[in-house]
Amino acid sequence: MDEKLRLHDLDPLFKEEVAREPGCGHLLRCFSCGVCTAACPVSELEPEFSPSLIIRQIMYGLRTELLSSAALWHCARCARCSFQCPQDVRFLDIIEGLRRLAVREGIISPARAALLQQGETLIQDLRRRLIKRILAEAGEDGDPQEMLSHLMKGTDKP
Ligand code: SF4
Ligand code: SF4
Repeated sequence: MDEKLRLHDLDPLFKEEVAREPGCGHLLRCFSCGVCTAACPVSELEPEFSPSLIIRQIMYGLRTELLSSAALWHCARCARCSFQCPQDVRFLDIIEGLRRLAVREGIISPARAALLQQGETLIQDLRRRLIKRILAEAGEDGDPQEMLSHLMKGTDKP
């Protein structure tokens, strides 16, 4: 986020616009506690990605900045944030709503958005396969990095 906010960059109606997206009405219940960010595995690896910051940007009305931000596409859709939120704000639905808005605004093409979603599915699949492999090899000294590398190459055994 830019350090200085300019009033003419702010859209005071943005939060209502997002809240009107299917499944996003609960957005207005957020009280900025930050639990979602603390629970987010992506935030842990990439501190610049923060669900609670994204919600604050919505509340401030940073429409253009947020809809054109790569951060919208960093979420891995694991839903941990939604399970932990004390206000039952489902951030996963909000990120989906923001993505739809970015596509409707022409900020990203439907084809690129579909490609990014496809990449997420591949990553989830890889994660499932890695977990399965590690559990299957419980008791052995398998190196997860090495296993991951072989799974990515499509080979069965290190
Ligand atoms: S956990 Fe819920 S209430 Fe807290 S900042 Fe995140 S969305 Fe808002
Ligand atoms: S759904 Fe997205 S924002 Fe929420 S915890 Fe998972 S990766 Fe983080």
